[in-house]
Amino acid sequence: MPFDSTAAQNPRVSIVGAGPGDPDLLTVKALRLITSAQVIFYDALISDEIRALFPSSAEKIYVGKRCGEHSFSQQEICNQLAKAALTGQRVVRLKGGDPFVFGRGGEEVLALAAHGVSTDVIPGITAAVGCSASAGIPLTHRGLSQGCTFVTAHARSEDSKELLAVDWSALAASNNTLVFYMGSARPALITEQLMNSGMSGAMPVAVVENGCTHRQRVFQGTLETLEALINSHQVKAPALIYVGEVVSFMNELSSLTQKNINSHQLVY
Ligand code: SAH
Repeated sequence: MPFDSTAAQNPRVSIVGAGPGDPDLLTVKALRLITSAQVIFYDALISDEIRALFPSSAEKIYVGKRCGEHSFSQQEICNQLAKAALTGQRVVRLKGGDPFVFGRGGEEVLALAAHGVSTDVIPGITAAVGCSASAGIPLTHRGLSQGCTFVTAHARSEDSKELLAVDWSALAASNNTLVFYMGSARPALITEQLMNSGMSGAMPVAVVENGCTHRQRVFQGTLETLEALINSHQVKAPALIYVGEVVSFMNELSSLTQKNINSHQLVY
């Protein structure tokens, strides 16, 4: 790899959002940075179709966290990113969706700054937004939902306080469309907490698995039956859970909108 003295004087990592999986949903800037990268660190959410765009000459380093695999700690990832940038290479840190939505992008900016490495952050289409369009669930709809809230239902085992920080009563009372990231392993908790906070068990819910990819599956049910819905279809991550009246539009809207993900047929 040729040594780039300008880059070495100003070491930089581009933290790039790859969107929810469909390569057509990459931003122009993301595509430009990916195709000119010398080193790409990518995580488990990066689809095969997006990986196919990596230059053959680039060093590709997988730093994802999948069950049964060695996973890099956040600190190891940042150390490796800094090391690569300090050699003067064009480094891309590619993340699913948007780097600043449950993506730990902020932590990486801070850690790299501590290493003397500057960053630029390229936004991506976050899963809640991408899957809303591909499943036909409007996040807001006049008269039904004036806002939307993105929440994580995931609690790290070593830090269960994260869960306690969720204000379920405020969520239930908000009338917002709720979108739960990392929630497919905790449906009973979502149902219990929202119903205890006064939300009706008949509230429509939808689960979108592998949204915006040719493996997308979408299931519709009610808050009360969310766990049964997820278990009966053996939903696996990555999946999102939508909770709100807007979900009732799904069948009508999805039949009216074109589904054209990489020319593959969506699975319903
Ligand atoms: N930064 C990412 C989110 C990372 S957290 C973003 O902005 O989208 C990982 C969670 O995102 C997954 O557990 C799942 O809840 C959600 N997710 C990401 N990609 C998804 C996809 N293609 N379909 C459904 N959910 C997805």
